[in-house]
Amino acid sequence: MGETRHTRVLIIGSGPAGYTAAVYAARAMLNPILVQGIQPGGQLTITTEVENWPGDTHVMGPDLMVRMQAHAEAMGAEVISDHIAALDLSRRPFIAQADSGTTYTADAVILATGAQAKWLGLPSEEHFKGFGVSACATCDGFFYRGKKVVVIGGGNTAVEEALFLTNFAAQVTLIHRRDRLRAEKIMQDRLFKHPKITVLWHHEVTEVLGDDNPRGVTAVRARNVNSGQTTDIPCDGFFVAIGHAPASELVKDQLELHNGGYVRVEPGSTRTSIPGVFAAGDLTDHIYRQAVTSAGMGCMAALDAEKFLAGH
Ligand code: FAD
Ligand code: NAP
Repeated sequence: MGETRHTRVLIIGSGPAGYTAAVYAARAMLNPILVQGIQPGGQLTITTEVENWPGDTHVMGPDLMVRMQAHAEAMGAEVISDHIAALDLSRRPFIAQADSGTTYTADAVILATGAQAKWLGLPSEEHFKGFGVSACATCDGFFYRGKKVVVIGGGNTAVEEALFLTNFAAQVTLIHRRDRLRAEKIMQDRLFKHPKITVLWHHEVTEVLGDDNPRGVTAVRARNVNSGQTTDIPCDGFFVAIGHAPASELVKDQLELHNGGYVRVEPGSTRTSIPGVFAAGDLTDHIYRQAVTSAGMGCMAALDAEKFLAGH
């Protein structure tokens, strides 16, 4: 049996929302405990340069998150390397069970579990995950030096992944199901000008092709969404960059969700459907999904939690 620890505010998640909540909750003398989860620092740790964090023209995502953690700790937050496996919000204090065996009881909980990469859902994609199929160019791009890679998606992530992969790969094909990208214009400009990148419009990937001995990708089968015609595109790596889904597994049967799994909060606040439980960042935001908006919501969540605790 692990130990049981009580805290006034338990913050779950260590992305911009969690760390900002920790800074504010610590400065409010609430002695918050923040549990980092399996991705300490959150999504920005799997990217390279961030160019839209105010005050930094260029900052590396992982460096920014190290600074945020240091800031939260300097203000007095306790940051713990662990993962919350189960959360009981049915009564107060709320109870969180961590993988380490520790049980946390908390008067208020701030959920900042962010989002996780979406996959296409193809059996062949699953089969080659980690063997040529990836959702993180920063993590795996290095393995494709001088090779051919395919990226699927049309948002900022896909364009960033494609551009980043040009540092290693000889040729990058971006496949998108429409004829227009969602990515910011400045990113699109860089993509279209890049000599190593080709864009295949109006296509979706229907299968990942490869060998089993040794296991590895050799091509992806792309289908023209208008004509139905399929083409096999030879490649050594396939990067899926089709967006992210909210990490609401812990609370899906306990809190009101909307828009496909995002935690619903009262407009203009971070209050969820259970008093004393607050949500911030990508977990609750299907529209903006930026580091700076997540940090802003983290601040709001700590202030909302402080107000709640003062009244209880
Ligand atoms: P996340 O960053 O998603 O962090 C979630 C945290 O929750 C993680 O620490 C995880 O370990 C933790 N967690 C999850 N489940 C549990 C659990 N059960 N127990 C404990 N902890 C848990 N935005 C920008 O503004 N500028 C950019 O340049 C930019 N580039 C990006 C590049 C990429 C490749 C990606 C994927 C995203 C990018 N974004 C960018 C978006 C930005 O990263 C997100 O909007 C932001 O990180 C969301 O912050 P968050 O705090 O809500 O959650
Ligand atoms: P996104 O904006 O939701 O884009 C997802 C893309 O994948 C869309 O183009 C979508 O196509 C496509 N797609 C979705 N499902 C698909 C499927 N099953 N098959 C084929 N294609 C599919 O996601 P994102 O690019 O990960 O960005 C998420 C958020 O993080 C955004 O708010 C973004 O601004 C932010 N972000 C910011 C930066 C930055 O500021 N530099 C970098 C990365 C991410 P459709 O267009 O047809 O829908």
